[in-house]
Amino acid sequence: MLGDNTRRDIVIVGAGPAGLTAAMYCSRMGRRVLVVDKAAAGGKAASTDLIENYPGFPQGITGADLMQRMRDQAFRWDAEFQNWEVTNVRQVPEGFRLSGKTSAMTCRAVIWCAGTRERRLGVRGEERLTGRGVSYCATCDGPLYRGRRVAVIGGGDSAIAGALFLSRLATKVWVVHRRQQLRATKVLQERARQCDNLEIVWNSVVTEIVGEDRVRAIALKNLETGHSQLLEVDGVFVYIGSVPNTEPLRGVARLDEGGYVVTNETLETSCPGLFAAGDVRRTPLRQVVTAVGDGAIAAMSAEHFLASQE
Ligand SMILES: Cc1cc2nc3c(=O)[nH]c(=O)nc-3n(C[C@H](O)[C@H](O)[C@H](O)COP(=O)(O)OP(=O)(O)OC[C@H]3O[C@@H](n4cnc5c(N)ncnc54)[C@H](O)[C@@H]3O)c2cc1C
Repeated sequence: MLGDNTRRDIVIVGAGPAGLTAAMYCSRMGRRVLVVDKAAAGGKAASTDLIENYPGFPQGITGADLMQRMRDQAFRWDAEFQNWEVTNVRQVPEGFRLSGKTSAMTCRAVIWCAGTRERRLGVRGEERLTGRGVSYCATCDGPLYRGRRVAVIGGGDSAIAGALFLSRLATKVWVVHRRQQLRATKVLQERARQCDNLEIVWNSVVTEIVGEDRVRAIALKNLETGHSQLLEVDGVFVYIGSVPNTEPLRGVARLDEGGYVVTNETLETSCPGLFAAGDVRRTPLRQVVTAVGDGAIAAMSAEHFLASQE
């Protein structure tokens, strides 16, 4: 039987920068708020090495440290935290019914801040060797590759930041990128260029991850020449984009073709009383600073929605 706690005014799904900011605003306004996260509070930002572009920290701050501060601030008032995964959302006369394998909850408004998860390569060997050399988080798993050789797949900010982090631990880092030019910001590209043990493999894709019990190599194909090669590595870090965590919202709110939640400028979705904030919504920039701003706007909008019903 599901543990159905008492009702809440607002349930916030996801305790990353967006959810924690929304929790701070909602609880300071005196609402009964519950924050639900399937993992520890802190979100994706908590596993980022150094955040240099969040205002107020001129020397940068580690993701873990920044998110610890956000957590402390979010729960200073009366917001409550529960650890479970929301797998179903439906509208009921009282508002919304959220449920998962271990719990369920009824509330009047929802702020969906569930972020994104890493896109998989979808090649042979990836699933079998995940956790055995295949990783999606350099800061989490990088220290296991001290003195080893690794490959990073991708060419955006996350890939290059991850490669630079790994270059301080590994003897050699290859960045495998499908194009002839990186997408990462200029400052990261410049740091990559100056890094002695980092080499970029241009115009290439991974066709297989090779190994029995552990990663031994990756098979690459050059998209220009058609040439194939085997690159011997001990670890593969995949950074090829993200997929939004919106499956429970299908049929409830409008999603775009990529699965991101479509919101208006008050961050309300197509379903009244359901708001979305942070990386999970259709937005031109997915960063901590924008997630935090979204969390505040969504909280104010949820407050107006509840007040309009009272
Ligand atoms: C490698 C890397 C480096 C980055 N570096 C920077 C940087 O330097 N500067 C910067 O500003 N940004 C950076 N970012 C981006 C930043 O981390 C995100 O923009 C930010 O974390 C988004 O916050 P969010 O609250 O929207 O989502 P998230 O932080 O992703 O939090 C979402 C939360 O929702 C939870 N969740 C998901 N689904 C469910 C469910 N069904 N039920 C319950 N809980 C659920 C997850 O467990 C997670 O805790 C980086 C990202 C990566 C991957």
